[in-house]
Amino acid sequence: MLEVKDLHVSYGPVHAVHGVSFAAREGEVTVVLGANGAGKSTSMRAVAGFHKPDSGTIELDGRSTFGLPAHKVVRRGMALVPEGRKIFAPLTVEENLRVGGYTASRSKADKTMQDVYATFPILHDRQHSQAGLLSGGEQQMLAFGRALMSQPRLMLMDEPSMGLAPTMIDTVMSSVKAMAERGIGVVMVEQNADAGLELADTVVVVTRGETVWTGTAAQAREDKTIVHAMLGEAALDGA
Ligand code: ATP
Repeated sequence: MLEVKDLHVSYGPVHAVHGVSFAAREGEVTVVLGANGAGKSTSMRAVAGFHKPDSGTIELDGRSTFGLPAHKVVRRGMALVPEGRKIFAPLTVEENLRVGGYTASRSKADKTMQDVYATFPILHDRQHSQAGLLSGGEQQMLAFGRALMSQPRLMLMDEPSMGLAPTMIDTVMSSVKAMAERGIGVVMVEQNADAGLELADTVVVVTRGETVWTGTAAQAREDKTIVHAMLGEAALDGA
């Protein structure tokens, strides 16, 4: 459903991403692994329309979304769950969800909100609480819920386990699995390789701004260069 090929993205003179490629399929999880600064977040933000890419192709169901702004990408059915969750701390849980559903009519948003509450009952319990008072794991659920409000067919998730306690990581990963089982295509950036490999159908390794390896999770466990790549540039240099 999503095909990203040879993506290039810059910040002014800094050519941060120069050859990232990956694909995602309905109901499957593609996990993007790589060291700090490899260009994973930049790639996700560019695909989601938050940063204009220089070149490459981005196609969702055969139609290009290259260079479209985020609100148009969302309408095409692709939503980003950003790094660090970026929930609106002073707003309530329900108000955060409303922001995610702004492209839909009120009645449609109401219905989707009930679906989100059924998926994440904790959000229902906390609907009138200030989002900033939720735990890290609850805030991650809220970030998922806010993205689900646009009824995406594909979700780009940037390090959903970041900064969470181990038990909470399990809960978050179960939620990711449940979303894929509902047929949503998932692309998940993950620093926690063990957690990522457990869920992955496909693994993509990004090093120094480019995709250097793509395969199944089983192949990733077997291929030692993948481990080196995940450990960081220094380990790869020493390999
Ligand atoms: P992390 O896991 O640490 O978030 P990442 O793989 O997601 O790493 P990016 O955040 O995409 O990596 O960063 C890729 C490169 O782009 C890095 O060299 C980084 O320093 C640079 N970069 C990121 N954001 C900016 C920015 N706003 N301005 C200039 N350079 C940036």
